[in-house]
Amino acid sequence: GTTQTDGQASRGAGRKGFDEVDILWISEGLSCDGDTVSMTASGQPSIEDVVMGLIPGLPKVNLHNKVLSPTMGGEEYLAPFRAAARGEAANPFILVIEGSIPNQNIIEGDGYWTSFGNDETTGEPLPLNWWLDHLGPHAWAVVAAGTCATYGGIHAMAGNPTGAMGLADYLGWDYRSAGGLPIVNVPGCPIQPENFMETLTWVLYHATGAAPPPPLDEMLRPQWLFGRTVHEGCDRAAYYEQADFAKDYNSPKCQVKVGCWGPVVNCNVPKRGWMNGIGGCPNVGGICIGCTMPGFPDAFMPFMDTPPGGGLSSVLIRPYGAFIRRMRGITNAVVNQEPKWRHNEDAVTTGYDP
Ligand code: SF4
Ligand code: SF4
Ligand code: SF4
Repeated sequence: GTTQTDGQASRGAGRKGFDEVDILWISEGLSCDGDTVSMTASGQPSIEDVVMGLIPGLPKVNLHNKVLSPTMGGEEYLAPFRAAARGEAANPFILVIEGSIPNQNIIEGDGYWTSFGNDETTGEPLPLNWWLDHLGPHAWAVVAAGTCATYGGIHAMAGNPTGAMGLADYLGWDYRSAGGLPIVNVPGCPIQPENFMETLTWVLYHATGAAPPPPLDEMLRPQWLFGRTVHEGCDRAAYYEQADFAKDYNSPKCQVKVGCWGPVVNCNVPKRGWMNGIGGCPNVGGICIGCTMPGFPDAFMPFMDTPPGGGLSSVLIRPYGAFIRRMRGITNAVVNQEPKWRHNEDAVTTGYDP
């Protein structure tokens, strides 16, 4: 179903919008910065085009991202974040969070799991959680970049000591930004570059008043990107249908028996590719391990074992698939021959009757 707040539909085309927006990107969740790095590979659109104002109709965008900042951190870099936390942001801002959110409650008063800048009075590190508490109420929109930020990801697996969670687990699944939007989740470990930039661009068009809010599913993912399964877009899907399964990784055939979870995973990467349309996990020999999913990684482990459902369905499809494959082989041989009337002999044997 679509998650939209009351009145959101009316905030679409025609709403008075903004012509300048800041992006405050914090990658100090429990994170590897992989989503920032991945995002720089986007071509349609590229972050450079967005920041340089080359995309028609977008607002002026000021990007504040530590990894990409020429200031490399420090007070100059922190200034817009501090102003926003005080409710004094120069422009409406989109808060982008990268990395999972640790649970400070379990160590309250005894340090911090991850921090961003220092408290100006005490000099003590400011936990990520402090920033979320102070920026969350003022952000015009909030976007979670990557599976750690959306659902917790790798740091939130069973047995972890930090109590890590996704942004919606922290701010609340019913959180609404100052602009009336739910958190916009773009999962992936890391994000597929264009998936993220396309979503960000939609939010920016919405900020101008030119577009309605992005349609999200119940896990707050963009519907148009995560509405289908890996299997439904996989180059190897025809092998599955013919029950032609790879026995090892050195094969172009369907990889379900060597650990691919594609049939039950929401992800468009096989359709879209990774960079410039090239790649896309199972297309190029990588089993799908469900890295976009709320249940990742626990639900998909141990990696490389045959998924339970995959074992059953591949057994059930075998009699049909093997029979159909044989029949198609026969028909394929037939249609690989030219009709017998194409010859250079004296008579026309096409059946032509003048
Ligand atoms: Fe790194 Fe993956 Fe987490 Fe992104 S989702 S921060 S790429 S571990
Ligand atoms: Fe489906 Fe994976 Fe096989 Fe592709 S490789 S057809 S996604 S099971
Ligand atoms: Fe992740 Fe699977 Fe999508 Fe690859 S195909 S990006 S492993 S969910």
